[in-house]
Amino acid sequence: MKDACSKYRSQLIEAAEGNAGPEVLAHLAECPKCSAIVSRTIQILSAAKGFWESAPSDLVTRAKSLMPETRRYLTGRRLDWGQVAGARGPQEEFQVLVGDEDVSVRVMASPRPNGWAVMGRVPDEQWVVEAQSPVTVDGSLFEFEVQTLADSAFDLVGLESILQIPPLSELIDNDTK
Ligand SMILES: [Zn+2]
Repeated sequence: MKDACSKYRSQLIEAAEGNAGPEVLAHLAECPKCSAIVSRTIQILSAAKGFWESAPSDLVTRAKSLMPETRRYLTGRRLDWGQVAGARGPQEEFQVLVGDEDVSVRVMASPRPNGWAVMGRVPDEQWVVEAQSPVTVDGSLFEFEVQTLADSAFDLVGLESILQIPPLSELIDNDTK
């Protein structure tokens, strides 16, 4: 199922726009994670363009049903530094534990030639990571690259809540004030 998800990942926005092929629709029918991504994308699109009207009605119905009104938006905060707390020097690899009371995720940032690699492990596999850059997923491990830590905000999307993680630059900043 994991491999299937990564295979369809790039097509989920098109699906939200109503251009899903039969293969993608079949996958959405059996995959709550990808359906949740599509439903969220439809909501984002609809805010701007009224996509609820143009998306296929069965897809919209399914998307809405998978998108409970009760899903909460939470803002993650820094809970703790990881063991490799070299965070004072922004050139060095560091770890930080972020989250809220219910869910936390340990995030590691590591310098790369063109920026930073941001890595972590989702609490369990119902969580999906959405970042501004493409996210590589391997089991519960995720990784994405950014040019600066200011670009490193990401969402941890679960079935009942969406934890919005601020950019690591802000999380580090908190410590120096
Ligand atoms: Zn999937």
